Amino acid sequence: MISVEEALDKVLSHVDVLEAEDELILDSMGQVLAEDIYSTIDIPGMDNTAMDGYAVQAESTVGATHSSPNILRVIGEVAAGYLTKEEVTPGTAIRIMTGAPIPTGADAVVQFEDTDEEKRKANNEPLTEIGVFREVRVGLNIRQAGEDITSGSLVLSKGTLLRPQEIGVLASLGRDVVPVHRRPLVAILSTGDELLDVGKPLEVGKIYSSNTYSLAAQATRCGAVPKILGIARDNMKSLKEKIREARDADLLITSAGVSVGDYDVVKDVLAEQGEVTFWTVRMKPGKPLAFGMLQLGKKAVPHLGLPGNPVSSMITFEQFARPAIFKMLGRKISDKPTIRARSESYIKNRDGRRVFARVKVRQEEGEYYASLVGPQGSGILTSMALANGLMIVPEDVPAVNVGDEVVVQMLDWEQEL
Ligand code: AMP
Ligand code: MG
Repeated sequence: MISVEEALDKVLSHVDVLEAEDELILDSMGQVLAEDIYSTIDIPGMDNTAMDGYAVQAESTVGATHSSPNILRVIGEVAAGYLTKEEVTPGTAIRIMTGAPIPTGADAVVQFEDTDEEKRKANNEPLTEIGVFREVRVGLNIRQAGEDITSGSLVLSKGTLLRPQEIGVLASLGRDVVPVHRRPLVAILSTGDELLDVGKPLEVGKIYSSNTYSLAAQATRCGAVPKILGIARDNMKSLKEKIREARDADLLITSAGVSVGDYDVVKDVLAEQGEVTFWTVRMKPGKPLAFGMLQLGKKAVPHLGLPGNPVSSMITFEQFARPAIFKMLGRKISDKPTIRARSESYIKNRDGRRVFARVKVRQEEGEYYASLVGPQGSGILTSMALANGLMIVPEDVPAVNVGDEVVVQMLDWEQEL
């Protein structure tokens, strides 16, 4: 048996960051920049107003008060997206909307609320003049050209993970595509004579292949593109045929067929077509695990053989496939987020493996509490649906008692925890 860390190291040593390609910014979320991004423009491009109001010379407001406003002559109006030819001079103002460029001559913007505009409108007076209620300083309400980004500067560095905000920044630079490490194509193959695909009538003795879909959804969630290969039967011929369809994949994930049952042929195919790296990991659920490089034509494709039990396959995916996908995406390998919580359950760890127990974490007065979500059988997939975290019981801890402090690996990071 090998440890979770040893197994992970072995998997990671066989995958590498994928090449760069141009991706539409809209599709690039969760991908990683393959190049530094410099700006060719200033943002904002010109001084502009942060408020709706009147562009003035600050000088023209000296001495203004609410009871004795300074009256300025309104010589024009400018909306966002337009320029005005008018020039602001002492004693004049230009009505201006948020985002509009500051007219020549103006050095401040008085917001509407600091003028008598509302009163004039209520009295049906034309806005040929405006009363200013207060003194303003030079620069008030003006956004400076280049205050966000200056032309020529480095805006986002190679290696940056693209989140909605980075995508917004790229759009503000006018870019529609961006160089990122491409998404791995992850082939997903279920194995077993008992399996049926969804949408078909159930037959006696058969089960629907839930792994196909939970694994594909997990792959999608961590940024890969799943390629569903369907179901291979428990014989070498069927499996080899299906595996051939993984030729163009960056990673092949199979489920089932790695334990000691008579019909567990994944191991045999692996042994025939590739080099087996390991079989058993000191963890629960998910002990039987296969990893190797499959030679498919000219290409060697890393193959991760997950256990068949639906909970085991999901948990081993999170521990091994997700980091591998992250590495291919160029993401810094980060563990899943963990929290410290108090256990509200008693959990026994009989055989010195690392237990990943399905728990529901809740928060109360700043403390986290984790309780088992019910039966922990590795075939009980609804327990995953009830859980938001995996409590980690270390190999050398024989039992967790109620009240013990534990580490929980979060499956989801819910706001309403
Ligand atoms: P095995 O690894 O083949 O011994 O399978 C272990 C358990 O997982 C068995 O109960 C299988 O029926 C079940 N199983 C295998 N593949 C899937 C699948 N794709 N979806 C749901 N359950 C599966
Ligand atoms: Mg089987």
